[in-house]
Amino acid sequence: MQQYNWLFWLFAALYIAYSSVEILLDWLNLRHIEGHRGRIPALFEGKISPEDYQKSIAYTRAKTHYGWVKAAFDALLIWTMILGGFFHRFDLWIGQWLPMNSLAHQVAYPFAIGAILYVVHLPFSLYHQFVLEENFGFNRSKLATFVLDQIKGILLSLLLGVPLLALLFWLVPTLGDHWWLAAWGVLMGFQLLTAALFPVVFAPIFYKFTPLPEGELKAKLSELAAKVKFKMSGIFTIDGSRRSAHSNAFFAGLGKTRRIVLFDTLLKSLSSEEIVAVIAHEMGHNKRRHILKGLVLSSATTLASLFLLSQCLKWPTFFQAFGVPEPSLQSGFVIFGLLSSVFTFPFNPIFQWISRRNEYEADRFSVEVNGDRAGMVSSLIKLSRDNLSNLTPHPWYSFYHYSHPTTNERAEAIAALSN
Ligand SMILES: [Zn+2]
Repeated sequence: MQQYNWLFWLFAALYIAYSSVEILLDWLNLRHIEGHRGRIPALFEGKISPEDYQKSIAYTRAKTHYGWVKAAFDALLIWTMILGGFFHRFDLWIGQWLPMNSLAHQVAYPFAIGAILYVVHLPFSLYHQFVLEENFGFNRSKLATFVLDQIKGILLSLLLGVPLLALLFWLVPTLGDHWWLAAWGVLMGFQLLTAALFPVVFAPIFYKFTPLPEGELKAKLSELAAKVKFKMSGIFTIDGSRRSAHSNAFFAGLGKTRRIVLFDTLLKSLSSEEIVAVIAHEMGHNKRRHILKGLVLSSATTLASLFLLSQCLKWPTFFQAFGVPEPSLQSGFVIFGLLSSVFTFPFNPIFQWISRRNEYEADRFSVEVNGDRAGMVSSLIKLSRDNLSNLTPHPWYSFYHYSHPTTNERAEAIAALSN
């Protein structure tokens, strides 16, 4: 059969490599955790109860096992789709309802596939929220909130996605060979616009934003912002606790919409000194230009991806490998979007390494600005404790997967800083 060309076999080999790496690292990680079960790591002694330590181990195990079941299901799904010629058959089927290869057909196809993937993954989402998270005390979401969130999410993705995809599909035949350059401009503009609108338009659809009340914490944070000359439009809390007990803090928005956002769960757990340390860390990402560098890096990878996509669309081998005898724009976009990560997985640890380097730099910024090592370290310890983080990951596992260094590594690096 035509399908089994060299690209198909390359994909199959990389898929096996990728899955083997993931499973091996998971297994090593679980074994490593078991080996350390008997003793709370020194940094956390007296800071986390023996019960919570055992619970964090059970949580890591439960999440790993859940990940295995989901990965097995996804493997079955994707291979059935490829070997069964689903991408092509489904494209023809949609084409029966709409004018073949019209803009409507082209836009409907990826959304219909997205809908199928969404529905078959719904049991996983429900299990994750209402069994896994529930069992460890993290779920605060009522079923009604969950359903409403899902509906809002679907409407939002249609509202934003349909015009965006229609524009991309229109660009390809209109601009010919150089469509990918224009598409890059469109995607970058879209990314900046949604980032700017996120805290004022999109996030409020899901969360309630409340300005941080006047008081000690607000005064400290405002003083910090003035000290490091950080421009922002305000400090807000959101009602994360209505959905989950996990805690977090982040910056959102661009330019005039930029603001500090604190989860209400964080305010309950951390002292104001600790929150100031966390926010100074976040400001460090900005002051050390990590945000800008991240944007440059992601725009470069987007440009490279679009160029590769434009080449794949002209390449019959690409379509044949994934069971499509008659190439179409829409099937090319979907196959590329769904499967290209298998080809690029060996690069992931490089991006994680860059991210971890930035985290160390932001910790250093926080300590330099506040002169408060203890606050920075104790905030990290509390965040690990409250989120039941794995306190003893296998070094290979954290090297491959972690975007942040472990709390141990960060505490050591902070202790080594000279004042
Ligand atoms: Zn950070």
